[in-house]
This record gives sequence, C-alpha cells and structure tokens, in this order.
Amino acid sequence: MSSPKKDGPTRADGSTYSVARSEDEWKQSLSKEEYYVLREAGTEPPFMGEYVDTKTTGTYRCRACQAELFSSEAKFDSRCGWPSFFTPLAGDAVELIEDRSLGTVRVEARCAACGSHLGHVFEGEGYGTPTDQRWCINSISVTLDPAE
Ligand SMILES: [Zn+2]
Repeated sequence: MSSPKKDGPTRADGSTYSVARSEDEWKQSLSKEEYYVLREAGTEPPFMGEYVDTKTTGTYRCRACQAELFSSEAKFDSRCGWPSFFTPLAGDAVELIEDRSLGTVRVEARCAACGSHLGHVFEGEGYGTPTDQRWCINSISVTLDPAE
C-alpha cells in the first residue's frame, strides 16, 4: 500500500483538512505550549489543565481552528487528570487514528477540521457513562465557549 506524500497535512485516508495551515502559520497563531500539544501531539501535565474540573455549561471548541468538538453535557468526572467526555458533539468532528507511540496501541483523537491533536480515547473502563468511552482531552487543545 502506498500513500504518496502531498503538500500540507492530510488525513490518514489521504483527504485534506478543511483548515490547512503550514506549521509556520500554526506556530505564529498558537502559544508554545499550545503548539506542543496540538501540533506535536504532546500531553499537558495531569491535573494542571484549566478545564479538568470545569462544570460550566457550554461548547468546547478546537483551540487551533474553533471547530465545535465537545459539549459540556458529555463531560464527566473521570479523576484521570484531564477533561473527559463520553462522546464528541458529532462523530465526524473528530478523527480517530491508531497511535503506537508508547509501544501500546492507543486511539488518538484529532480535530477533523484541522488535524490538531486533542487527546486519546479509551474504552471499556467501567465509568458507567452511556458509551463506556473516555475521551481524554488536553485542556490546552480546546476553548470553552460558555452557554449564554
Ligand atoms: Zn481544529
């Protein structure tokens, strides 16, 4: 199977993101910490992010491109140190990619509009949420848009 390398970021299936910026442009529009997590798939320290315990009603948007990703209604208290959701707002708002970077297989969640790293998805942990999934999302990858 061959996957020809195209200019700019492309999805795993070869399609292009609707928000396509060069890494230089991302560097200019994001802080150093934001760039590290969103564009280099870094992870913020646990229990340090600004939305870990947030209960405010609203919509969480991609901090890179403002796409709507998660609703506060799907946020739950996982005590894992990162904001956790049991489902994204819409299935196609988030792209899932197999991540083998730590020697295990994890599922990485990226913004489907711009390809920025959001966090990881875990399943079957027994949290008792409707989906039995934990979307473990870096606070720094999102911005909460509080409801009126
Ligand atoms: Zn985005």
